[in-house]
Formats: sequence, C-alpha cells, structure tokens
Amino acid sequence: PIYLDHLASTPLDPAVLDAMLPWLSAATAGNPHAAHRAGWRAAEAIEGARAEVAALIGARPGEIVFTSGATEANNLALLGATPGGWPVAVSAVEHRSVLACLPELRRRGHDTALLPVDRRGIVDADRLAHVLAAGPALVSVMAANNEVGSVQPLGDIAALCQRNGALLHVDAVQYLATAVLDVRVLDIALLSLSGHKLYGPPGIGALFLREGLPLTPLLHGGGQQHGRRPGTLPTALCVGLGAACRTARERRAADAARVAALRDRLFHLLAGAIDGLRRNDPGKDALPGCLHVSLPGLDAADLVLGLPDLAISTGAACWEGRGGPSHVLAAMGLAPEEAHGSLRIGLGRFTTEREVERAATLLVRAIRARPAR
Ligand code: PLP
Repeated sequence: PIYLDHLASTPLDPAVLDAMLPWLSAATAGNPHAAHRAGWRAAEAIEGARAEVAALIGARPGEIVFTSGATEANNLALLGATPGGWPVAVSAVEHRSVLACLPELRRRGHDTALLPVDRRGIVDADRLAHVLAAGPALVSVMAANNEVGSVQPLGDIAALCQRNGALLHVDAVQYLATAVLDVRVLDIALLSLSGHKLYGPPGIGALFLREGLPLTPLLHGGGQQHGRRPGTLPTALCVGLGAACRTARERRAADAARVAALRDRLFHLLAGAIDGLRRNDPGKDALPGCLHVSLPGLDAADLVLGLPDLAISTGAACWEGRGGPSHVLAAMGLAPEEAHGSLRIGLGRFTTEREVERAATLLVRAIRARPAR
C-alpha cells in the first residue's frame, strides 16, 4: 500500500512511538494527578510534554491545555473563550469542527459571519476589516486548509485583529508539521493543534490559550488542568504529542523542502500524462505536502474506491461518505462538476520518490481505463 493521505492523518513517527512505549507499560502505571511517586513521575512526563508543545509555537507551558484532539480544541476556543455578546467571524473554508460551533454560538446570542475566500481559498482581508470596523470580535481563521492546502496570510489577519481589539483563534492543525508559527510574534490569542497531523498519536491535541484569557470549560469534572479541561490526562498520549512537537521543530524545514519537491514531481508526472488536469492547490504558496487536482468528467469517488491500496481521498476525511459537495471547493467557486472530479493527495515525512512514481502510474492507468461518461 502507498499512503498519500497525510492531510487526513499522519503515520506515527517511530521516534514518537519510542517515547510513548515506556508509558504504556504496567511498570509506569499511575494516575498523573495522584499523590505518590508513580503519579508524580507521570505528571513530570506530562509537564515535559506540555513544555514541548509550548515550545513549538512560542508559548509558555501554562498556556497549553491538553484536549482529545483539535475538534475539542476548536470547540473549546469558540464556545469557551468568546467573550459574552461578541460577534464571531470565521472563514468559509474552516474545518467542520469550527463551522459546526456557529449554530450554538447563534443560539447563545452571538452574531456570526462567514468570511469569503478567493479562488485560491485565501480569506478576503477587506471583508474581515469591514466586520472588525463594527467592533471587536472573535476571529477564527485556519493557518492552512485541510483540503486544498491554502496557507492564509496570518500576518495580515493578525495585524488587523490586533488593530481592532479582536481575539484571533488559529486552527493550526495542518500547518505545524512543515512551517514555523509563533503565537507571540503574531499576537494570537488561541490556537488549536492535533497529534495525528504531526506524526504523533490520534486522540490527543491541545489548545493554546493566551495567559489571562478567561475560559468557560466545556467539561465539568475533577478540576484537572486548573479546571480548564478536567479529566485524567493520558500520560502516553501527552508524551507522544510532546515528542511529535519536538520532532516537528527539528524536522519541519527539511521535511517541507523534501515533500514540496516530491509533490511537484507527482504533479509533473500526472499533468504530463493526463490532458485537462487542473491544479486547485495554490502551488508553491500551499502546504508543501498537498496536491489537489481535478479532471472534468472524472468520478473521483469511484476512482479512489477502485484503488484501495493507494490511500488518497476526494476531500476531507471527516466529511467523506456524507454525499454533499465540499464546502471548501464551493467557497472557492468551483462548480459541483469540478468538485466531483477532485482528488486530494497528501504527501508526508516518510513518502519516497518510488512511492510517488508508483502512485502516478496507478492513477494514470486508472484514469485512462475509466469508462467514458
Ligand atoms: N482542523 C483541521 C484543519 C483538521 O484538518 C482536522 C482534522 O481532522 C481537525 C481540525 C480536527 O482534528 P482532530 O481529528 O484532532 O479532532
């Protein structure tokens, strides 16, 4: 099998697994919140991991809240940190875990606005300026999109937010494995990240919450993490996320260059063999590992199903099988017919040149062999 679905989930890095394994053994059993040596050891490992997560984004350890993943972190940010009565503005291409908070925010009396994007999936900064001219708001814009890989002009967006007294939440899930982001430099108030997009384990993520920002927790329980997110912390998963963040810091620059070269090679191989292939990701301005293409008349879902040993997708994994067209492609102005013929290919840290060549051969063969429509 060839795994080219890194935007859906990244494989566990062996270095991360090594860091986690000791914490999965009976010898290290111990509730990290318990008052005995076993508990203290686990707590110490967790605090070390929290510091690694903080270091990846230029935060302080006390500003990191472990969550079950980025879905929870996004929910916690929008539903827990939006000041009472403030409007909320989010880009039209956000992940469902952000967009799905909007009805609940409206139910609570907040105005909500969807910021349109251009053909490349980039947020309209003028529209954001217009929204912010009316007063402060919570703004949620992703660093990079999980379908087409568009990277947002976070510097401009952050400056606009700062000038207007707005709070900026950034879903940085897709961005951190290959790029540098510093919450202090950008004056970001809230940021979400996820283990399984950073070559760490699934089931763990984190919310960065700027020191001093009030938060209403989503969960109520035993008061862990200063009550911001109660629940017994999973030591192995926290340690895994910490190791993943450390590895990302060490590898992101080299990974980005290598993966971008492989991505361009794959596009070159495909475009040279398939007439009419269109590229929807913004090329060099996109996430290095993301190749998003469409072919008029192609039944992409059918193609993907016919190549079960090539892990690629037609869109966001969490939305697949729901039948509807991608809200991201629709917001970018792609016609439903174009969206129908779209493939999302995600290359990553362990992708090899041979895999890229083999994937191109399989795709070209399958596309040429499909029945005429
Ligand atoms: N945000 C983005 C941009 C994503 O790609 C994902 C991926 O699933 C999520 C949020 C949700 O993360 P998680 O799977 O950790 O809940």
